[in-house]
Amino acid sequence: MSIYTCPHCGEKTFTPMRKAMAGNMRSKGKTCPKCGNLCVNGKGATIFDALYCLVAFIFVVYIYLNAEYNDWLHFYEIPMVLGLVLSMFLVPRIVHAFFFKLEQSIRIDAYK
Ligand SMILES: [Zn+2]
Repeated sequence: MSIYTCPHCGEKTFTPMRKAMAGNMRSKGKTCPKCGNLCVNGKGATIFDALYCLVAFIFVVYIYLNAEYNDWLHFYEIPMVLGLVLSMFLVPRIVHAFFFKLEQSIRIDAYK
């Protein structure tokens, strides 16, 4: 089974771009163009997002705490922190586009 297969109707309706926008299990997801049901990136993707954000956050704290004592780090502190924060939004989307399986959205508000 392809990672671009819709978990509702079993058709390969997702593209990497559409899958990237589907978010993880905490988001509402993206509708399948064929059956109209919502799909999200599954457990693997959700765990990856949490771990990635944690690691990026640790780096931000590390840079913040050490920038005072390190000239090089001090000079690049702001661009590096901005880059890390931006990567928290970008990296999961890029990874979702190419890895992890789609699952049905579990959010109650996704079903009217
Ligand atoms: Zn479908």
